[in-house]
Amino acid sequence: MASRTYRIEKNGSLGRYMVADRDIKQGELILKEAPVLVGPQPGGALQCFACCRRLQNVRTCPGCDVALLCRPDCKGEFHPESECSYLASSGITGKDLADNCQVVFPLRCLLLKRYDPRQFDAVSNLEPHLEKRRNTPIWRRNKVAIEDVLKKLRILNQDELESELVQTVCGILDVNTFEIRPAQNDMVAYPERDCLRGLYVETAMMAHSCVPNVCMSADDSYRLSCHARVDIKRGDTIAATYANLLKGTAERQKHLSDGKYFECSCARCDDPTELGTELSSLRCHKCRKGLIRPHRSRGWGCDVCRASFLDGLITLAIREGERRIEDLDPANINAMEQLYKKLSLTFHPNHYLMLGLRQNMAVTYSRLPPTRHNLNRKLDLCARLLAVFSKLEPGISRIKALTMYELQSAMVDLSNKQYRGGEISRERFVAELKAADNILKEAVRYLLYEPPQSPEGRMALSAMTELKMLRESISSVLVERQEDSKKGEVARRLKEKLEQGDGAKEKK
Ligand SMILES: [Zn+2]
Ligand SMILES: [Zn+2]
Ligand SMILES: [Zn+2]
Ligand SMILES: [Zn+2]
Repeated sequence: MASRTYRIEKNGSLGRYMVADRDIKQGELILKEAPVLVGPQPGGALQCFACCRRLQNVRTCPGCDVALLCRPDCKGEFHPESECSYLASSGITGKDLADNCQVVFPLRCLLLKRYDPRQFDAVSNLEPHLEKRRNTPIWRRNKVAIEDVLKKLRILNQDELESELVQTVCGILDVNTFEIRPAQNDMVAYPERDCLRGLYVETAMMAHSCVPNVCMSADDSYRLSCHARVDIKRGDTIAATYANLLKGTAERQKHLSDGKYFECSCARCDDPTELGTELSSLRCHKCRKGLIRPHRSRGWGCDVCRASFLDGLITLAIREGERRIEDLDPANINAMEQLYKKLSLTFHPNHYLMLGLRQNMAVTYSRLPPTRHNLNRKLDLCARLLAVFSKLEPGISRIKALTMYELQSAMVDLSNKQYRGGEISRERFVAELKAADNILKEAVRYLLYEPPQSPEGRMALSAMTELKMLRESISSVLVERQEDSKKGEVARRLKEKLEQGDGAKEKK
C-alpha cells in the first residue's frame, strides 16, 4: 500500500483544506469514501431511506415503521440498524415525514447526534457559513419550512433551538455536499431534479478550483473516488471543483458565491480569455472586430475598442441565446444548424452556450443516418469540442473521454465508407483507423478510472471491446494488403515465367 497522499492544513481564507503529503502521480487514487448520508437536492422529491431511489409508492420500514422505503424488503444500505432503532422510539411517524419531505434530509443528519455522536462530530466540523447566511432568504425559508416543522414535531430540545442547530445542519448540507447522479442511471444526461447530494466528511475538506487537480466519480453505492487528474507536487493544494466547468466565469462565480459563500480566484477565473478558450467571450457589436470578455478589474470590456458593457446587457444576450437553444427540437438538425449560424454573430464559437449547442448537435448527428455529410459534420463538431475540453480539463477527464469516444466512432465509420467506396487508398484507410485507435485507447485510459459500477465504467468495458474490434479490422486490412501484394508477386513471377517461356519458345 502506498503511503498516505494528503494531510489537512488550516488557514484563514480556506479554512481546513487538503495538501499533497508527497508527490502524487496522475491517476493515483487519493481517497475513496462512503457517504454519511445521501439526500435530495433542496426541493427534490422523497427518496427511499435505504437505497436512495426516488419513491413512487411510499412504504414504511417494518423495523421502525417510520423510515420511508421503496418496498418493505429494500436491501439498500443507507438505513442502518442504529437509525432504525432510534426512529422506532422517536415519536416521529412515517406520515410526518411523507407530509414534510423537505425536513427529511436535515432531520436525518441531525439525528446522527442522538445515535451516532462520533459521526455527528465529524459532520459538525464542516463549515456551515452561518454568518453569511443569517437573515438571508434561504435562512428565512429554512426557519419556516424546516425549523418550525421540527419544532412542531417536538424533535428539538431547548438547547438545540437556541444554538441554531437546524440552520447549522442546513448550512453544512448546502455548502459541503457533492452533487451525485442517481444510481443505475445509464443516461449521461438526466433531469436535474433527480440529482442527489452526498455528504462526504473527508472529501468535503478539498478546496475548490476551476482548474481542479482531482476528478471524482461515484459508483452505484455512492462511494466517491478521487483520482489525481494530473501529477500533483508535494505541498500543492488538492482541489476539486464545486462548479460546472463547462459554464463561463460569471456563472461559476455566481454559483460559488450564492451556494458556497466564497469568491474563486483561480487561474481560470483571473483570465478574461478563460485559459485561451474564450468560453465567456461575445463579439463586440461596436467595433465589429474585438471580443467582449469578463475582466476582474473593469467588468465586461472589448479588447479592441476598449468599450465597456453593463452586466445586465451581457446577461440579456445570454438569456436570449439560452431561450432559443431550449426551444430547439432536438431532432431537427437544420434548425440547430441555423441557430448555430445565427448565434455565431453574437457569441464566440467557443462561448459556453455554443459549446452546449455543439454537444447537442453532435448527439443529433449520431442519431441521423450515417451519410458522409452527417459523419463529417459529427467529426468536425467532436474535434472542436475536444480542443476546448483539453484546455479546460488537462489530464484525466470524463468529458474528454466521452467526446473522444464519439470522435473515433465517426472517424471509423467515415473512413470505412470512403475506403469501400474507393475514395481513399488502403494506406490512408489504415492511417485513419490507427488514428482512431489512438483516440479510443486514450478514452479507455480515462474511463478506466470510473468505478466499474457506474455508467462510464460500463462504457469503458464496451469501449475496450470496440478497441479490440478496431485492432482486428486494422490487421485484417493489413493482411488484405499482404495478400494482395503476394498475389501481385505471384502474378509478376507468372508473367516473368510466361515471358521466359515465350522467349525460350522463340529461341527454339
Ligand atoms: Zn429502496
Ligand atoms: Zn427502520
Ligand atoms: Zn475559479
Ligand atoms: Zn469593440
